Amino acid sequence: MSKPLRSFIEVAPDSHFPIQNLPYGVFRPASGGAARVGVAIGGQVLDLAVLEEQGHFGEQERVFSDDSMNRFLSLGQLAWRETRATLQHLLNAESAELRDNSELRQRAFHRQADVQMLLPARIGDYTDFYSSYHHSHNVGTMLRGAENALMPNWKWLPVGYHGRASSVVISGTDVRRPHGQTKPPDAEVPLFGPSRSLDYELEMAFLIGPGNKLGEPVPIDRAPEHIFGMVLMNDWSARDVQAWEYQPLGPFLAKNFCTSISPWVVTMDALEPFREPLPPQEPEPLPYLRAPNDSTYDIQLEAHLTTSKGDTPHVITRTNFRHLYWSIAQQLAHHTISGCNLQPGDLLASGTISGPTEDSRGCMLELTWRGANPLTLPGGETRKWLEDGDRLTLTGWAQGDGYRVGFGEVAGRVLPALS
Ligand code: CA
Repeated sequence: MSKPLRSFIEVAPDSHFPIQNLPYGVFRPASGGAARVGVAIGGQVLDLAVLEEQGHFGEQERVFSDDSMNRFLSLGQLAWRETRATLQHLLNAESAELRDNSELRQRAFHRQADVQMLLPARIGDYTDFYSSYHHSHNVGTMLRGAENALMPNWKWLPVGYHGRASSVVISGTDVRRPHGQTKPPDAEVPLFGPSRSLDYELEMAFLIGPGNKLGEPVPIDRAPEHIFGMVLMNDWSARDVQAWEYQPLGPFLAKNFCTSISPWVVTMDALEPFREPLPPQEPEPLPYLRAPNDSTYDIQLEAHLTTSKGDTPHVITRTNFRHLYWSIAQQLAHHTISGCNLQPGDLLASGTISGPTEDSRGCMLELTWRGANPLTLPGGETRKWLEDGDRLTLTGWAQGDGYRVGFGEVAGRVLPALS
């Protein structure tokens, strides 16, 4: 048996960021100065711009003093893997190079608590899928009854829509309750005002690497070359606005006011030990959506709600990434099959991730069945939808043997609508 990988940086067993993880993010140091790329290790951030300046990444193009990961993403899988190997070597408890260089350590490590995290990439385009069978089935049942819950296309293709990249924000950003048009069933004409059914959606999203040229689809077996890593995502939604506007072209203003992502991008290489077979797909998808070793990941996911009255977070969703019907490779292959070009930093999201049980539903719409069964929180408060002052936090991790590959969290608080 080889010794388990261990860093000279102290990492608690339940930390999301052991040496097995090493997720990337963009941060601004406490001392100010330019944003740059770093990796999380325990409670620290390792400054890759400093390591790069010292020549630790060899001949590789210099990309880590950028204020986004886009150029690093564009370098591709070989460069990502070499960088990861270099970092796992430098951070290893057995390697003296960084461990025993106190001057370099002083410059290269920042306390996570002291830095400001920024969006990891300039997101040129953002797409949101609808890949959870249970979520789609629950929502379809509410709208059309259980007999017609899924649209006829649903098991043939990963349904999705083009979202809005400009309103993707980093964790910690408050979300303002939006105004919009709504039309209650008994109203003759639509109303205008603040949304009265603000919701969260527990999702995960992946960042695109090199991408493809216009007109050149990515075959499904090459999809992994274009998927750098994943983040947690909360796709804030205004359900009353959505119900009135969505037909026939799908969601628009109900989804474009705010989408929050977690700052640390967990690489597919770090998630490799947690890869598992995709659940059975019946009917068998068309050939362009089939790959022999297509897979999913065992990632535990939770949503926590903290109200302004209580200060204790309550777990309102417990689910798992493995509940998704369509894989990320299938999403990518489908997205490009028309010839659509993906670019470094594009964000492709899963859609709400619900599981088969009631407590694994990934949004209020399902948890309260469109407000019919309000949630009762341990303090006695009830919720049909999110209220002003509520704070919603998503977290997730893959559980290894004695370590966790975690995603940290994505959090946001609901601000009242502008008056
Ligand atoms: Ca969504």
